[in-house]
Amino acid sequence: MATLQDQAIALRRLDYSETSQIVVFYTREHGKIRAIAKGIKRSTKTRFSTGLDILDIGFITVSRRIESSDSLSTLTEWKQSRSLSGLRESLHRLYGAEYAAEITAYLTEDWDHHDYLYDALIESLNTLNGAEEPMEALVRYQMSLLTAIGSMPVFNACVACRRTDQLTHFSSFEGGMICGRCLPKFNEKHPVSEPTLKVLQQLVPSSGAEGAFALLNYHIAHLMGKAPRLAQHLVSHGAKQLVRKSEQSIDRRNSGI
Ligand SMILES: [Zn+2]
Repeated sequence: MATLQDQAIALRRLDYSETSQIVVFYTREHGKIRAIAKGIKRSTKTRFSTGLDILDIGFITVSRRIESSDSLSTLTEWKQSRSLSGLRESLHRLYGAEYAAEITAYLTEDWDHHDYLYDALIESLNTLNGAEEPMEALVRYQMSLLTAIGSMPVFNACVACRRTDQLTHFSSFEGGMICGRCLPKFNEKHPVSEPTLKVLQQLVPSSGAEGAFALLNYHIAHLMGKAPRLAQHLVSHGAKQLVRKSEQSIDRRNSGI
């Protein structure tokens, strides 16, 4: 057994037994770690006395068997270092932060670490903690995550012919934009407005980032094989259609239609 310590953000908690839970962390030096927190559901245990909730930031000590990289680690210590209490002051902020946690838990591999992704997640949570409008921070984080896992779509050229003009539609399966000339060759595609494309091309979210959020969420849903749980609650009426479309598209794919 090897012991390691790291800075960590708690992404998910899943029941494991009557007294224990599996906690999914994203750590700075080791990437995603899944660890059993034994006795965490017993209030008398003092080892996790500071409490451990999703979106908490702190230091973990875990022990793991070195010989098998995919087995669960055991959480032996948890010290919360920061509390982002502002997240729980607004449902919109909380949903935004939980969305970031959900897509990180699904799209990263165990032990595959990207320290800049850890920093990007911390920065997003910090911004969301005091933000009135979470959308820009979320788009920035979607982009960081997609870049880290090597699935950032191509927005500045047609994925089929490489031309840079008439970029009218996005295809998640093709991994980027499709131009007007190549459009008939592809089934799975979604129109992209010029302002949204500009946000995505400049990789700098600005006001009106909702269209970019919905489009990146559409791509993320395909990569996850399921629609992120809270996306629907984060967008206003105009972008809900695309969020729903990603849910329907996944359902179709999962049912083999
Ligand atoms: Zn083309």
